[in-house]
Amino acid sequence: MIENDHEFSCPHCGAEMSVRLDVVGGSKQSFVYDCEVCCRPIHITVVLEGHDVTDFQAEIE
Ligand SMILES: [Zn+2]
Repeated sequence: MIENDHEFSCPHCGAEMSVRLDVVGGSKQSFVYDCEVCCRPIHITVVLEGHDVTDFQAEIE
C-alpha cells in the first residue's frame, strides 16, 4: 500500500496539518476530515494522477 501525506491549512482556524491520502483509492476522492486543532469538519477534495496530487481543496462544508 502506497501512502501520501499532504499538508494544508484548516479553512476554519488556519492551523497547518497534514492528511494521509490513500493513493490507491481512486483518482478523485472527497471526504470529511475533522481539524486536529478546532475539531470542525473540513471537506477535502483531492485529485490524484498516479502518486502525485494534482488538485487539493480544503473547504468549509
Ligand atoms: Zn481548524
